[in-house]
Amino acid sequence: MKQGPGDLLHLIRTGEATTRGELQAATGLSRVTVAKRLDALADAGIISEAGTGSATGGRRAGTFSFAPAGIVMVAALDAVGGTTAAVDCHGTVVMRGNINTSVAQGPEATLDAVVEALRALAAEAEFAWTTVVAIAISVPGPTDPTDHRLNDPPIMPGWSGWPIIEYVGETTGVPVYVENDADAMAYGEAFAHGTPPRSLVLVKVSDYIGAGLVLDQRIFRGEDGSAGDIGHIHVGGTRTCRCGRTGCLAAEASGAAIAKEMAESGYAISRPEAIVNLAAEGDTRVTQELRRAGELIGTVVSSMVSMLNPATLVIAGPLASPDLIATIRSTVYAQSLPRATRHLTIRPSELGDDAGVVGLATVAVNDFYSAESVNLRLDTETAPA
Ligand SMILES: [Zn+2]
Repeated sequence: MKQGPGDLLHLIRTGEATTRGELQAATGLSRVTVAKRLDALADAGIISEAGTGSATGGRRAGTFSFAPAGIVMVAALDAVGGTTAAVDCHGTVVMRGNINTSVAQGPEATLDAVVEALRALAAEAEFAWTTVVAIAISVPGPTDPTDHRLNDPPIMPGWSGWPIIEYVGETTGVPVYVENDADAMAYGEAFAHGTPPRSLVLVKVSDYIGAGLVLDQRIFRGEDGSAGDIGHIHVGGTRTCRCGRTGCLAAEASGAAIAKEMAESGYAISRPEAIVNLAAEGDTRVTQELRRAGELIGTVVSSMVSMLNPATLVIAGPLASPDLIATIRSTVYAQSLPRATRHLTIRPSELGDDAGVVGLATVAVNDFYSAESVNLRLDTETAPA
């Protein structure tokens, strides 16, 4: 692989080496080469040096830090509607917005609405579009591991194989990233605070149930993008799933499944949040349903724990109440060998509603500022990166 300024940037970002001397020692490069590569990074606005010019913070003089001024514009699409955000290169959400669209309209109309919403948000936040380094979009369906196009998404008719990255890239002129929604959330949780765990599984419990896998600090998508699609794992039961079979986890334990079951007893539940609220108010029928859901999810999750032995398991989404997480936790510990859970942390989302948008921005930043990408860019262009 080509060597260049990007390799120094990697050491600076991870904190392994942040001064000229440390960078020289870590790389074995000469003083002159280190200086030249640091200048290239500084000229491109990617790093700043404490004790000079605009650099701030409590860092000692002569230390370098990752400090690009660029913004990532992100859109997290749900089946209906979605959220937008402007996120800086450190994962801080600068501004949030909403999109009024439905993926059922098809890719072109939906993506036009996404671009319009992102441009409006950038204008509202008073960013020039030239400061946007990337756009990242999450979709509620499986994405192909190589071209990132949707792969037979059940709730997105007309999207399978559609070139989202190319279309939005041509419309906007910036690099575009596309991820599955649970994968983006998992990545956000993994990289939210300092060094990411070696492996993290995020289970999103909402109207549907899906999971995102971050293994060896990378999103694991599987051969066809369906890794982590746990909603159709057979758990027994008689409720019919949208896939046509009975006994799928999503048909038995998702927010939509609970709402459907409760409707037969006269409850009108339109959103998963209402289920959590009813349980918190002490409704015994809803509480029973939620406990049953937690046990079924816990059984599937303990299989994942035995198979993957993750460091961290995050239970996220609007149905992830403390009670549901407690039921999942006790089921996992009861059904797994001690060795598989010895170092396991089971926790709620730390990023909450921001998990998806922060994860998307982190995907874009970690790729755009990877050693490889930076070496390519700083070799061939002189414009600020
Ligand atoms: Zn199914």
